[in-house]
Amino acid sequence: MIKAVTGTKDILPQEISRWKYLEDLVRQIFSSFNYKEIRTPVFEETILFARGIGEETDIVGKEMYTFNDKSNTSLTLKPEMTASVVRAFIEHSLGKQQPLNKFYYISPMFRQERPQAGRQRQFHQFGCEALGSTSPLLDAEIIIAAYEILNRLNLKDLKVKINSLGVPESREAYKNILKRHLEVKKHLLSEDSRKRFDKNILRIFDSKVESDQEIIDNAPKLIDYIDEESRKDFEIVKELLSKNNIPFEVDAKLVRGLDYYTKTTFEIISGKVGSQSALCGGGRYDLLIEQLGGAPTPGVGFAAGIERILLACENEKTLLLPEERIDLYIVRMDSELTQKTFELASYFRKESLKVEIDYLDRSVKAQMREANKLNAQFVLFVGGEEYKSNKFNLKFMKTGEQKDYPVDNAGEIKSFILQNISI
Ligand code: AMP
Repeated sequence: MIKAVTGTKDILPQEISRWKYLEDLVRQIFSSFNYKEIRTPVFEETILFARGIGEETDIVGKEMYTFNDKSNTSLTLKPEMTASVVRAFIEHSLGKQQPLNKFYYISPMFRQERPQAGRQRQFHQFGCEALGSTSPLLDAEIIIAAYEILNRLNLKDLKVKINSLGVPESREAYKNILKRHLEVKKHLLSEDSRKRFDKNILRIFDSKVESDQEIIDNAPKLIDYIDEESRKDFEIVKELLSKNNIPFEVDAKLVRGLDYYTKTTFEIISGKVGSQSALCGGGRYDLLIEQLGGAPTPGVGFAAGIERILLACENEKTLLLPEERIDLYIVRMDSELTQKTFELASYFRKESLKVEIDYLDRSVKAQMREANKLNAQFVLFVGGEEYKSNKFNLKFMKTGEQKDYPVDNAGEIKSFILQNISI
């Protein structure tokens, strides 16, 4: 048997209503903040991600699906969206058309990670990028939008963690302070952290090793060394979050190692997703657009993992959607009326009703069973004694009420259904 590739998952019809609910909610919230949808190709030139995410990150270093196409161009399935959005922004000179561009997206992403619950190789993210303003209002806005989406799903155990990374200059100065502090303890660090000490010291804060934790907890914190402007902006972000009742905590260990990340960084975690608890992450990247060859333009954004959010909903038993139903099931009572049934179904479908008929030559009883299984709101009987006297019989399943209609007046049936249907 050929199976789906490790780390990929089919999303089967019975799961789709949850996906669609979440996607609709995402669209609704983003559009209330006036973000416009953007869709970019599934693959890009590899160099875009190498430059846009950073060669030293796990994503670029270990996780990308990279291949050469027939013209020997190195291509990569997108592992995240920011670099692609920025590429499109530069390529189409969108910054020249208007000073501030607010985009949102919903898209599959690809990373060759070790699969586990909440971690896949093809997964889906929604997120946004606001390009063109340094205003901390935007930092707060995207955190509020992300929180609002998760909150509307009734997720309870949400925590927003925020931090500020300052600008590269203040970060460089801090790195030296951190280096001096850790130098004497270097031999006590885990092997991974010792490597990070030399390569990208800030990443030591990502270490999950317990013995590293104590050393990290006692180290000087970046937030205490950031520049004045970043500090002021961070105060504004915190004030706006408080005023909007967003429960947040400052997490000084939330750092990102790359120079084009600036100022605000944040994560939203859920206590209910197990080890993969981050539902969403983002922040400011005022230097990335320049890095990718565009005119200097500040930017801020976040990405959230759809599978992880749905998993949290499942664990917390939120997002209980009503059972699916159809509007009308047409029961064929005589086999010679098969085509008539088909014709009627076409008529009601053109009127935008959700209609099903039998394609398996089933008995009337079996067709009724199917109508019940599909939660049909109405059943139309075609055939039998009524048909001999030129009538159809319509049953309103909710009340059990039945009524005959002349066969040449399907319009009357439609009107009755439309008046009584519950959406
Ligand atoms: P990142 O782009 O790494 O900041 O991730 C943003 C969000 O995407 C995370 O918080 C997760 O919810 C989700 N995510 C990242 N990697 C995966 C993965 N391999 N499988 C499922 N979800 C993921």
